Amino acid sequence: MINVQKKICLSCRKFRLEDTQSGVCRVDKSVEHYPMKRIKDSCEKWVDGGHQVNIREGWIKSTLKKEREES
Ligand code: SF4
Repeated sequence: MINVQKKICLSCRKFRLEDTQSGVCRVDKSVEHYPMKRIKDSCEKWVDGGHQVNIREGWIKSTLKKEREES
């Protein structure tokens, strides 16, 4: 069965992850500051980011692990 990608910011091509919970949406290039979005937010302009979601999930996992080890 094909794994259907969840249409959330974390898997969107227009998203830029900034920490383990959130990032910014770059869909509208005309704004001065890209709006902050939580990783599980979504909207109708979602664009498939392909394998970026795996890279982001990997980064979140390793960052959370590091934070746990340091606390
Ligand atoms: S708000 Fe919409 S366009 Fe922006 S990153 Fe999230 S899903 Fe993508």
